[in-house]
Amino acid sequence: MIDADLLWFDPALCLIDGSFQSAADGQTLPLVNPSDGTALCQIARGTATDIDAAVDAARIALDGPWGAMTATDRGRLLTRMGALVLDRCDALARLEAMDVGKPLTQARADVVALARYLEFYGGAADKLHGETIPYQAGYTVYSLREPHGVTGHIVPWNYPMQIIGRSVGAALAMGNACVLKPAEEACLTALAFANIAVEAGLPAGALNVVPGIGAEAGAALAGHPGVDHISFTGSVATGALVQQAAGRNVVPVTLELGGKSPQIVFDDADVTAALPFLVNAGIQNAGQTCSAASRILVQRGVYNEVRDAMSAAYRELSVGPALSDLRLGPLISLRQKAIVEGYLAKGRDLTIAAEGYLAEDAPNTGAYVRPTLFADVAPDHPLAQEEIFGPVQVLILFDSEEEAVTIANGTDYGLVAGLWTRDGARQMRLAKRLHAGQVFLNNYGAGGGVELPFGGIGKSGHGREKGFEALYGFSQLKTVAAYHG
Ligand code: NAD
Repeated sequence: MIDADLLWFDPALCLIDGSFQSAADGQTLPLVNPSDGTALCQIARGTATDIDAAVDAARIALDGPWGAMTATDRGRLLTRMGALVLDRCDALARLEAMDVGKPLTQARADVVALARYLEFYGGAADKLHGETIPYQAGYTVYSLREPHGVTGHIVPWNYPMQIIGRSVGAALAMGNACVLKPAEEACLTALAFANIAVEAGLPAGALNVVPGIGAEAGAALAGHPGVDHISFTGSVATGALVQQAAGRNVVPVTLELGGKSPQIVFDDADVTAALPFLVNAGIQNAGQTCSAASRILVQRGVYNEVRDAMSAAYRELSVGPALSDLRLGPLISLRQKAIVEGYLAKGRDLTIAAEGYLAEDAPNTGAYVRPTLFADVAPDHPLAQEEIFGPVQVLILFDSEEEAVTIANGTDYGLVAGLWTRDGARQMRLAKRLHAGQVFLNNYGAGGGVELPFGGIGKSGHGREKGFEALYGFSQLKTVAAYHG
């Protein structure tokens, strides 16, 4: 159960048309605390009926006060929502920690990131302009940036606040009316966000939040003929279903899917500077991060040094309940734990360089997995190819720059890549050659900056969120050609 002072809202309700209401058929679902397996609370189990109502409300909002609002006023509203998020920082962080299982420090960072997205997109709302286009004599031609209309947002459980901030924040900034379907495993902060939006004064229907099961509420949203754009973050398999469903309505889709991202360490790298990034990018959020650096490619000259330093760091990694705020919390669920353990079993014949340890207060009913570092892994091994979504990293040895590029680009994914080298020419060469939506030189993640466009190629998806770029994705361009002689 959750302390009453943390739940200032009723988590069992959807937000539709500005009012909090039960799912139409009154069904609910339990949320489970992955730190100990206990029930947290009930959430609404929305269905196609609720999605219909949410899409209708969003459509009406576009023709009402929300659609009529100036970009500046939309920006002010988003900024106000960001301030309210920060006011509730402690409660939101605790809710996220209990719901997702992430350590409190990470949960707090996610709250700050959500606020930052709302501030950033609040500030940007009135700064995206159309253009005038030089054309034939007698014409004046210009372009208008307009919202798509109703945008659907299907988000996963691993970073609910950050993903809501980057997708719903940008969509609202451009004047879309949103229908958000949070993940059934973790959606407390999505529901808190709905309450904050209403408290901030967001007009009815501009944001609708319908929790529910993916195959029910999610599928209904993805295939809804009244939706004009879909933003999806989650697995490749579900992303493909969402794209098919949206394709039947011929609406654009942004897919943020998984990854098998590499960090590449060359002989000339500053290994001491690299070490915390190499480890943290694998174990942050217990490895349940789409941009996790699950492959560490190391050149022969520093291979032993990197392996030994990472191993020493791994032996210090503590795992325990989210509210104990250790380096790792549990995985999201026992189901996810079984998936990760399946991969650990596939690594049975590999060399385990080091593992972390379970804290004494980690209940055996929690979804805990010890972080595991494998050494000397072949690039084509399943552990080096498939997204595990758990705290598992593999060390891969290489000799030449060419070999490093081949291995780095040798998966179905292309989300993020990190490069550790002091050679400036190599940095420039490889930044171009690596298949990834983001390349980090002598760092990894750059602190997660909301300003930095993010998204993948290949099975990592398509479209870009975050930064100013997202505003183009959540809007469309209209060309106006006036003939005046
Ligand atoms: P998922 O893709 O099934 O779920 C993501 C979201 O999609 C959830 O809101 C879910 O309710 C919804 N959904 C599920 N089925 C749907 C459908 N048919 N139509 C529309 N929406 C639907 O992800 P999951 O099952 O939670 O996790 C499975 C794997 O996905 C993980 O092991 C991991 O590899 C990957 N994953 C990736 C990310 C990421 O950020 N890239 C996030 C979460 C999960």
